[in-house]
Order: sequence, then structure tokens, then C-alpha cells
Amino acid sequence: MKNRKLLMIPGPIEFTPEVMRAMGMPTASHVAPNFVDCMGQALERMREVFLCPGGQPFIVAGSGTMAMDMAACNVIEPGDNVLVVNTGYFSDRFGAIMERYGARVTYVKATTIGDMPSLDEVEAEIGKADYKGLVVTHVDTSTAVRADIKGLGGLCRKHGILSIVDGVCSVAGEELRQEEWGVDIALTACQKAIGVPPGLALLVASPKAIETFKNRSTPVGNYYSDWANWLPVMESYEARKAAYFGTPAVNLVWALNVSLGQILAEGMDNRFARHRLMSDAFKAAMNAIGLKQIPVSADKAANTLTAPYFPEGVNGSVLPLIAKAGAILAGGLHAEIKEKYFRVGHMGVVNASDILATVGAIESGFAKAGYKFEHGAGLAAAQIVLLK
Ligand SMILES: *Cc1c(COP(=O)(O)O)cnc(C)c1O
Repeated sequence: MKNRKLLMIPGPIEFTPEVMRAMGMPTASHVAPNFVDCMGQALERMREVFLCPGGQPFIVAGSGTMAMDMAACNVIEPGDNVLVVNTGYFSDRFGAIMERYGARVTYVKATTIGDMPSLDEVEAEIGKADYKGLVVTHVDTSTAVRADIKGLGGLCRKHGILSIVDGVCSVAGEELRQEEWGVDIALTACQKAIGVPPGLALLVASPKAIETFKNRSTPVGNYYSDWANWLPVMESYEARKAAYFGTPAVNLVWALNVSLGQILAEGMDNRFARHRLMSDAFKAAMNAIGLKQIPVSADKAANTLTAPYFPEGVNGSVLPLIAKAGAILAGGLHAEIKEKYFRVGHMGVVNASDILATVGAIESGFAKAGYKFEHGAGLAAAQIVLLK
């Protein structure tokens, strides 16, 4: 493993050896008793990880975008009004998906990149039309801005609107209490904080979301994602009986069940706290070497990733230098500022040594790129937070 580099991007992330071993298990029949047990247990564990004891979990082959598609096509009908709280790239995508299924989409957007519309602005917009759904990206991976899901969930409950949360960069890393916070659909993909190689779309729907689906007056405009096909399959596996609609991604489900078990063994509250600590340490390091971040304030910044601006005189050509020093990072994604910043994912099994190694690699890359700063200042700042 001499050439091992840390994969510190916002997904895929570093995976545990146990998860990787599960990927390599002999592929069972999707109706074999050991697979039925595994799928059933993974579904039960989903509820615990999403903190949604009364929800209906779905595990389907696909990426996070497929989970967004599944959410939109099952609860939205042509002509429905949908409000998108827009924080960047993935909010734009969710809006486009909603429009594809015939929704009339309105966006509330902060005027500054890195900011969030306030709850008052969102509520004012809710008052202007008969909204059926509100969509929000919990952590916008393009900006590292984190939305106030508890606050928005409360607004949706108050106004009787379905709340749909893109938690692809948050679930199992960022604090998200689906049931308590009144979130009707929370979704993610397995390659982010869930910690499994890419390929599974994961979603938990509240009883209200399922009821909305059951009361539709038009057919679901997507065959593969239609809950009419998947709901009986999920219910059946959970009752430890095999069922078939589309062949499940057997090896990914082995791996998912292992990872969900590891997440629950750590405990959700411990996991949220560890992500906060790792994030605080990493952000302190970036501040110490003089890098500003996209989120306008600390309370709007995610714990699963950091999006620092390049300092004066440095650009994306520093990223290969950082990779050479041991940490693979991601470039910018938000169209308007794409060339001006970079992104560092710190979610899943990330620990203190990963943070220090990444900060060290960043310092090394920036030094080689000619940026002037006090060498070691980032490492020292991260250590101070980690030692607290
Ligand atoms: C990664 C990501 C997606 C897209 O997931 P894919 O698996 O790439 O389809 C959607 N939303 C957010 C917030 C993401 O971070």
C-alpha cells in the first residue's frame, strides 16, 4: 500500500476493509435465504440510520440522482406546485427533475453564493401559492452550504406541505432526524457518508409520502422508479420473503448491510459529533493558512465537506500537487465560481489521521505552488481542535 492516497472528495469516499470484503463475497441468488435476510436487515437498519422509525425504506440499484428521480415521480403529479430552496448545483438538478414530471417549480434562492434563503423568505413564498412539495438540498455539494432542515421541516409541517430532502451529501454524516424534523422523503446514495462503493439509491418515505403516492390520480411517469413496483418488494424482503421486480445489486447490498451495521455500532449521535469534530479541525486548518470558504458563516457550513477558495495566485493546477502529496481532492462544481475554489470531503470513516494527512498534503501542494504561508500552521490549528 506504499502508493496509497486518501480519497478525500465528496463521494466516493474511503471505505472500510469489511465493506470491501463484503463486496467480494460470492454473489447469491437474489431469492437465496441468506440474501433475503441481508436485504431485510439492511431495510430495518435504514430506518435507524435515517432516524425514521415509522418510515418506509427503499433500496434500489441506481445513483443518488435516481433516488431524486424516484422521489419526484412518485409524489408529484403534473401541475403540482413545488418550491425549491436553491443553494446550488444539486438544487438546480432537483428542480429540473421536478419539471420533467410536470411540476410548476418556483425557486427561492439566496442572493449571495454561499448563503441560504432565510426561513422567513421561504415562508413568505409558501404563502404565495398552493404548494404541494418543498425540495431542499441538505448539504449542497457544490458550495458546502448546509440548509436548516429542522426549520424547513417545521415550516412544511405547519403549512401541510410535503418536504423532500436531498441528503446525498448528508445522511449518516450530518445530523438529520427525519421523523422528528418532519421530513417526508429523505434520500441518499451509498457512496457518500453511507460508505459503500457507488451503485445504490437509498430513500426513506414517511407515511404521508406513501399516502400521497397511493392517492395519485395519474400514473407514475417512470416505469423503473414506480413505487407500485418496489413497495411490495421492500415489504416482502422485510418480512423475510423473497420478491422480484428488478434484480437487486446483490453484492452492493451485502456491503450496504455491513456498512449500516458499522454506522449503528458507532451510534448516530457519536457519528454526528465525530463529523462535526473532523470538520471543525479541517476548517480551522484552512483558516490558519489563510483560505476563505464559500459558506458565508460557520452556522451555514456543512460538516461533511469543506469548500475553500484558492488564495491569490493559486489555481486548480495545485490539485495534482496535493494528490502527489497523498490526498485526492475535488475541483469546483458551481458554474459561476468553478475555477476559484476546491472541495474536500471528510465523511464516513474519516478520522484524525486522515484530517492531518490531508492538511499536510494541502500545505505541501500550496507551498510547491508558490503560496506564501507559515508552514505547519494548518496542522497546528487542526491539532488544537482535535486535542480538545
Ligand atoms: C452526489 C450528489 C448527488 C448526485 O448523486 P449521484 O450518485 O452522483 O447521482 C445529488 N445530490 C447531492 C447533494 C450530492 O452530493
